[in-house]
Amino acid sequence: FSTLQALMEETRRPFAHPDRHCRDELAKDLPSALQRREFFNVYQPKVALTNGAIAGVEALVRWRHPRCGILSPDHFITLAEQQGHIDALTRLVMENALHDSRLWLEKSQPFSVSVNVSMLSLMSPNFMNGMCALVLERGFSPSDFIFEVTEGRVLEDTRAPLEITARIKMAGFGLSMDDFGTGYSNMNRLRDYPFDELKLDRSFVTGITSSPATLKMCHASIALAQACGIRVVAEGIESRDEFQILKQMGCDYAQGYFICRPMTAEAMKLWLSAHWFG
Ligand code: C2E
Ligand code: CA
Ligand code: CA
Ligand code: CA
Repeated sequence: FSTLQALMEETRRPFAHPDRHCRDELAKDLPSALQRREFFNVYQPKVALTNGAIAGVEALVRWRHPRCGILSPDHFITLAEQQGHIDALTRLVMENALHDSRLWLEKSQPFSVSVNVSMLSLMSPNFMNGMCALVLERGFSPSDFIFEVTEGRVLEDTRAPLEITARIKMAGFGLSMDDFGTGYSNMNRLRDYPFDELKLDRSFVTGITSSPATLKMCHASIALAQACGIRVVAEGIESRDEFQILKQMGCDYAQGYFICRPMTAEAMKLWLSAHWFG
């Protein structure tokens, strides 16, 4: 346990706050950083609200920048999209996820690894095939993975996304609508698109204990999603109160600091073995 505790302490280290000089460098450094593989994943578990069973982990990318320190994705995802490097970055995230998954995917329980995918990547024709080939090459099945797509981006265009999301499902990957409740909430999409999962945005979860209106919206979203056969994950749960309310509402899964902070693969492996039967 002492090792786990040490590793968990490390995960509490705040991100670097790059100064202006550093931020200017990021755009210049990104292409070579991809080649040097300066990116790594941390993982955050997703647990069933009913019995605490671990359903899987979500991969979250970090940039270990040699001068600026460990950077949050907020500093480089948009940059990678603008520079046309997002496909390469997502591929690297997937490669790292496949490598790290050997630490936990050979267990017997059903378990999935969620990867955040930019809508821009999903739009590029060869991307899905490449992902599929990569997963099979490493001896995994697409059904071991879930792609999380941000609702705002997936729904910008009305025609293409249906094709794109259907293609992901046909390849066998799971599909999750990320950050539900922000941006372009359109409940019809839950019915029309082949999502397996919806992630209630943290802003919803945060308001649940203080705002009766937010509480009602959460309740309605959960009921509606479930009526469409879509399971619901509440993200960003930070307190026991939030956890209990969502459990009572019948929400399916939970993620958040209250359960576990995102951790390195090694720390996650220890966390999983300590909690698997807990
Ligand atoms: P997201 O997909 O909504 O991921 C959840 C974010 O909330 C993560 O921030 C996570 O560390 C944080 N979080 C989890 N639980 C809690 C909690 O209880 N309280 C609070 N305050 N925060 C919590 P992170 O890792 O900084 O990622 C930010 C966003 O960057 C992600 O939001 C996702 O949209 C994007 N991102 C992360 N990794 C990737 C990636 O590999 N590819 C792409 N395209 N985007 C990524
Ligand atoms: Ca996500
Ligand atoms: Ca989210
Ligand atoms: Ca978010």
